Amino acid sequence: MAEIKVSTYQRRATRKKKPLAAFLRRVGKSKTKGILKQAAEAEKAAWDEVACLNCANCCKKMTPTYTKKDINRIAKHFKMTYQEYFDKWLKFDTNKDIINKSTPCQFLGKSNKCTIYSIRPDDCAGFPHFARKDVRYQAQEKTYLNNLALCPATLVFVEKLQVIIEGK
Ligand code: SF4
Ligand code: SF4
Repeated sequence: MAEIKVSTYQRRATRKKKPLAAFLRRVGKSKTKGILKQAAEAEKAAWDEVACLNCANCCKKMTPTYTKKDINRIAKHFKMTYQEYFDKWLKFDTNKDIINKSTPCQFLGKSNKCTIYSIRPDDCAGFPHFARKDVRYQAQEKTYLNNLALCPATLVFVEKLQVIIEGK
């Protein structure tokens, strides 16, 4: 598969933001049984269309949030102390979350591969959060809405979920 054109997805996300935001609000309040099954179907459609190795936009434009456990694990891998690792690569954001100092991520390697894949931060491993907790919870937290223009897979996931649930 060739590199995908992230800008095409971004334009579509901007154009459809309002109706998709309204749909996600309905998902957040929905009592529909079987929503996890519907989300699994939408997730499959998203990954059928978008391959992360042809994109890597999250690693290029966003930063993971690190837990202390993440930092200890990755620092150990590089034979650094927690503080050495923090000072070299990380900072606190305005919410006091620990994030990368800069983008693209320092661990993004050739061919869009993560060079610390097996020990990457939990936040990276869970992204774009299709399977974490309940899709309703992520809709309420605006996870998908916030990532709509950044993550092509999220856009396709939300579009497909709307077709599956509402038939449009
Ligand atoms: S998770 Fe989303 S933004 Fe990240 S590489 Fe995959 S499709 Fe691209
Ligand atoms: S640690 Fe790996 S997966 Fe996470 S942002 Fe950096 S390159 Fe991407």
